[in-house]
Amino acid sequence: MPSLKIPPDKHEFEISLFGPGVGECIVLHLGDGHWVIVDSCIDRTTGNPVALDYLEGMSVAPDRVKQIIVSHWHNDHCAGVSKLLQYYSTASLVLSVALRATEFRQLIAASRMEIGIGTDELRLALDVLRPSNRIGIQERRTFVLCGKVVFQSSHAQILCLSPSDRTIGRSFVEISSLIETGQQRKRAASHSSNDVAVTLWIQFGDGLAVLLGSDLEKTNDKERGWVAVVESKVRPKTKAKIFKVAHHGSDNADESRVWSEMLEQNAYAILTPYRLGVKPLPSESDRIRLCSQTAEVYATTHTHTAKPDLNKTVDRVARGVAKSLRRLDSRMGHIRLRRKASEIFIELFGPAHKISA
Ligand SMILES: [Zn+2]
Repeated sequence: MPSLKIPPDKHEFEISLFGPGVGECIVLHLGDGHWVIVDSCIDRTTGNPVALDYLEGMSVAPDRVKQIIVSHWHNDHCAGVSKLLQYYSTASLVLSVALRATEFRQLIAASRMEIGIGTDELRLALDVLRPSNRIGIQERRTFVLCGKVVFQSSHAQILCLSPSDRTIGRSFVEISSLIETGQQRKRAASHSSNDVAVTLWIQFGDGLAVLLGSDLEKTNDKERGWVAVVESKVRPKTKAKIFKVAHHGSDNADESRVWSEMLEQNAYAILTPYRLGVKPLPSESDRIRLCSQTAEVYATTHTHTAKPDLNKTVDRVARGVAKSLRRLDSRMGHIRLRRKASEIFIELFGPAHKISA
């Protein structure tokens, strides 16, 4: 049987990280057949959220998915969440507490009229939970901030490490000032998203900790961003063996104290690249920096795709219309780590690969 069809053993921890170049999804097995999905992206070959395809492939019953956590509302992290909520109809939706505020509700409402505002998928997800039974809605939605235990079983705990109180207060002020200007709702939607991202600490059994960094960035303010996480009083003082690198390996999310105070030496650092934007991530310097922190750095796919092999005439014509030619490789990459008897086994699928300096 192909390896992707074989589920983990009952007491085995698993983290699967998926990314096609733009998009990120994490699937966790927390023991006893309990599954949690963090963020979502679409597999272009099937048109489905990748988590759904993966769990279906292993014949995981829909009621085994306990939670769907949206770390923040950028489209590269929440594409397909509404479909996941429909399919996993007993799973609860976990969101940053920032999304409970009036200011964000205004943004969501604006996306009904104004497509492309950046909160469309989230609006669809909340609509799935909206229907007739209001009690049901309350039960399926949880808003979290630093200190909140998101999941608890006899084997595992998921603890929320951000956003901090101060981040929440500040982002509301920023958002409302941007909304007031009317034209800038789109900017408002994207502006504060990373700021209020949900980072998670997973404790499995007594010997494994995992840090999921979402897209949380650094700030100069000690009460926000990564320094607030490092200095948080609720943070367990053990060290994590696996780190989902924050913000696609970007320098603006790399706090050295995370490496020295929160991660074991030579921790597994796993990331999804982000190819859109002026500066695709991780850049060459990001890769070098990450490799200086640990020998175990893995990416779900390549930041840049290979240049196409064109003959000279076509090449000349094409260069007239495009500055940089890259072959579009949108295959889904998949990094899987499973822990059996205190040993971690890593498997790489599709374009996923180890990064070396
Ligand atoms: Zn992202």
